[in-house]
Amino acid sequence: MSGTVARIALDLSLDRFFDYRIPEALRGRIRTGSRVNVPFGKGRFLRSGYVMEITDRSDFPDLREIDSLCANSPDLPDPLLKLAEWMALYYCCPRELAVRNLLPGAIRNGKIRHRLRPHCRLGDAAQAAEFVAHSGNRAKARTALLKVLMLEHELPQDVLLLKAEAGKGALDALVKQGLVLREDVIDERDPFKGSQVLPTAPLPPTPEQAEALRVIFDTMDGKNSGQHVVLLHGVTCSGKTEVYLQAIARALEQGGEAIVLVPEISLTPQTVERFRARFGDMVSVLHSGLSEGERHDEWMKVHSGRVRIAVGARSALFAPFTRLKLIVVDEEHEQSYKQSEAPRYNARDVAVMRGKLEGAAVILGSATPSLESHYNAITGKYAHVRMLKRSDPNIVLPEVKIVDMRCEESDDGKRPVLSRALIRAVKERLSLGEQSIIFLNRRGFAKQMICEECGFVARCPDCSAAYTYHRKLGILTCHLCGAMISAYEKCPQCGTDRIRYSGTGTEKVESMVFSVFKGARIARMDSDSMTRPSLYEEVLGHFRRGEIDILIGTQMIAKGLDFPNVTFVGVVNADMGLFLPDFRASERTFQLLTQVAGRAGRGEHRGEVLIQTGNPFNSAITAAAEHDCDTFYADELPIRKELKFPPYGHLLTLHFDGDDPRAIETCAARLMERIRPCLDPETEVTEPMPSPIERIKGKYRYQAVFRAGKLGKLKQVLREECCRRPPKGISLYLDIDPVSML
Ligand code: ADP
Ligand code: ZN
Repeated sequence: MSGTVARIALDLSLDRFFDYRIPEALRGRIRTGSRVNVPFGKGRFLRSGYVMEITDRSDFPDLREIDSLCANSPDLPDPLLKLAEWMALYYCCPRELAVRNLLPGAIRNGKIRHRLRPHCRLGDAAQAAEFVAHSGNRAKARTALLKVLMLEHELPQDVLLLKAEAGKGALDALVKQGLVLREDVIDERDPFKGSQVLPTAPLPPTPEQAEALRVIFDTMDGKNSGQHVVLLHGVTCSGKTEVYLQAIARALEQGGEAIVLVPEISLTPQTVERFRARFGDMVSVLHSGLSEGERHDEWMKVHSGRVRIAVGARSALFAPFTRLKLIVVDEEHEQSYKQSEAPRYNARDVAVMRGKLEGAAVILGSATPSLESHYNAITGKYAHVRMLKRSDPNIVLPEVKIVDMRCEESDDGKRPVLSRALIRAVKERLSLGEQSIIFLNRRGFAKQMICEECGFVARCPDCSAAYTYHRKLGILTCHLCGAMISAYEKCPQCGTDRIRYSGTGTEKVESMVFSVFKGARIARMDSDSMTRPSLYEEVLGHFRRGEIDILIGTQMIAKGLDFPNVTFVGVVNADMGLFLPDFRASERTFQLLTQVAGRAGRGEHRGEVLIQTGNPFNSAITAAAEHDCDTFYADELPIRKELKFPPYGHLLTLHFDGDDPRAIETCAARLMERIRPCLDPETEVTEPMPSPIERIKGKYRYQAVFRAGKLGKLKQVLREECCRRPPKGISLYLDIDPVSML
């Protein structure tokens, strides 16, 4: 590569690149994507950064020289750098931050190296044979070593010594004589070490799968009139994963590579195994449970081309492949694809962009596609395929019934937590030896502690939230900041003991289930009961083997679990998220209910689902009960259109966090005054207001919401504003396409 000037992104949050001269000695060795050390500022310290561009000229006189190439730092592929530049622009984040985001910390910090392990092999086979033949009873150890190597060809030194029952001295002697060659080989940390999977072959596709694959293959071959994205809308159990697997096989056949994104929560061994069973060692898995060393090695395997499929959560999108053919985003509607700190990107959307930049097809899969993706599909921006049958015709969708809790009353006149219908259904399952799931998306025992005498509610002093009561631990805890105090025995305000706990959580459901279903084997699964990561697998193992009758849990059990003997799912309270002050509240409720319902009846017995609600006519609930996405979309789209909310327009939130609400208000008002004249007339903006969750960890939170058809100009204006230093004690940031308005 010619050129004498390198434009470099330094690891500094300055949102610009810096030009450096490439010294003679490094010309031709430095390319875009190389990591280099350069002098910066006055000190003699070197900074490292990535070469973004190589050119011949610079607007700056007297450029300083690049000091050196970083040892041990792999180059980044060009298209990934382009992707980072796009992200910086689109998400309004500093460019070097976008570049940094491409790399796992383990690679970036350069501290983790390959582990080396000496391996031994024979120097000269004939000489070795001669030595063995003539050594007789002398040199027993050396003979043994050679004999092992004659059989095994090559072995790690420690294994060789063990097998030959010889000491290292004897081996050293052989190496000295030249009979054995010893060299250091990279020893990879293998997260799958010792695990065995049974290989699977592709299943003959059902007609729906065949049609989906036809569209996907056409898209991969560029025969879909410029479209490169396919929305695969398939009900749970319709065989989406099988479609992914066959599409990946095709990408590999064509010499390409594939990335599969799944939400972290569904990155279970069950899921991973399906990919490994089909593609074996070609698969690298990137998830948060890996050690730094494992992460480093997995990344290097991708970088060096030794694996061709990367499966993982959000960050796997940046796997440094160079012949990418396919990106699969499973459960594309998931909120967790959005990163909550800068760069605040949505991996699903960035996947679409990466596919475009690299000529790869993108499959967005879901049983409940987001309104954005659905809209892109019906307006022809994405190809659209639907799989509405379960892949095994004997397995039909579960029957879903809505239980109107307004009609339920227990003996004491209070509304019960478990309806009669739910209790009856679970009892029936117990008598049949089948399993039940009871779902409630709130952990803890009760949502709040109230004094019936004086009305005191225990609240977190630092957040705008009531404390949740956890009975087993005897504590009150804040689910926003984690603060914890021991539960009160008497009201701290009036001293009476008329304390009441309201708002049922999983812990309370568990205690009720225990008392209602005596003798049943019961387990609870939420982030409180799963005190260590391995417990999750253990409990699921028990459940899979039928050692648990009733599993109670939060959304931790809503996704991806596939247990054929589960024939009943009860939703304790479907209304929990329905009235949150967020325009996606209905959509989320619909998605969650559909997903939970999908856990029932995955085996040969038809499943039954009961949804308890106080809003039996709400369309998010009725549509989920009918397995009817279209009705839900038809109800929801006009509302979004009316309000110019996504998919009919883009959203941007400007956040102000700080200790003093007055100072925030002043700062926000000034800022808005400056921006208003620069806005397009069709941009709509709210006054900066306290966010629905007004305070977290002592910080006040304000936000202004902008809505516009296109955000380009607005972003330019806001970006400049955000680059100015806000007043002390206030932090300011932008969120483009926010997924939560809370
Ligand atoms: P989804 O990802 O849509 O929930 P899966 O791919 O997990 O669906 O498929 C559900 C079940 O159906 C799995 O057990 C899978 O092995 C089986 N399956 C998928 N495709 C086929 C097929 N073509 N023939 C037979 N069984 C299939
Ligand atoms: Zn708190």
